Amino acid sequence: VENSEGEGIYTVGIDTTYPPFEFQKSGEYQGIDVELIKAIAENQGFEIQFRPMDFIGIIPALEEGELDLAIAGMSITEERKEVLDFSDPYFDAGLALVTTKDNTEINSLEDLDGKIIAVKSGTTGSKFVGENREKYGYRIAYFDDSPSMFLEVANGHAQALVEDYPVIAYAITTRNLELKTVEERLTGEQYGIAVLKGKHGELLEKINEGLQQLRDDGTYEEIVTKYIKS
Ligand code: GLN
Repeated sequence: VENSEGEGIYTVGIDTTYPPFEFQKSGEYQGIDVELIKAIAENQGFEIQFRPMDFIGIIPALEEGELDLAIAGMSITEERKEVLDFSDPYFDAGLALVTTKDNTEINSLEDLDGKIIAVKSGTTGSKFVGENREKYGYRIAYFDDSPSMFLEVANGHAQALVEDYPVIAYAITTRNLELKTVEERLTGEQYGIAVLKGKHGELLEKINEGLQQLRDDGTYEEIVTKYIKS
C-alpha cells in the first residue's frame, strides 16, 4: 500500500482482542503493542495501518505478504524463527495455568487428569498444552480468541486454561472474571515484533532503533505503566 506521496505504508497485524496489548475501544486501536508500534513508526518516519485478525492467521498472513509486520504479544520461539525474523525482545511474559476462583482442586498440571483445558489456537500455550497432553491426561478445547477461552472456564465448560500471565492478570482485574492463576509459571517467554524471514532487514533495523529510542527517552516505560500498574 502507498500513501499520497507514493511512500510505502506498512500493514501491521495485531491480535483482535488481546488487552492490554491490543484492543479496540471507541473505534480506536489501543494497548501497549499499538502504542509502541505507533511511536516506533513516528520516530523512524514510516507509516502504518493496522489489520486485526485472529492470532492463528498472523503468521500465514506474513508469509503471504498480506502483512509487513506483526506485533501481537507474539513470543519469540525457535520454531517461529524458521519463518520469521524478530525484533529485540520488548516484553517479558510466559504461560500461566488458570482456573476458577473457587476451584481448590487444581493447583498444577498434575491435577488435570480427565479435565478439559482451553487454549487459543496457534499460540505457545496451545503448543505447550498439546505437547503435554499424554503426560497429564487432559482433553483440549481450542478457541480462536482469548475472551471466548476465558468464558469457557468461567462458565465451567472447561476446568482450566493457559494464557500469557500479563494478559490473564489484566483480564481478571479489568473484567471481574471469576478466574485465578495458579502460582507456578509454566514457561518464560519474550515478545518480539515479527517480519517475514530474510525479507525486511531494513525495516527490522528501524524497528530496533525505534524501540531503543523509546526505552532511552522514557516513552516505553510510560506506555507500559499506562496499562499495567506495577
Ligand atoms: N504469546 C503467545 C504466543 O506468542 C500468545 C500470543 C497471543 O495470543 N496473541 O503464542
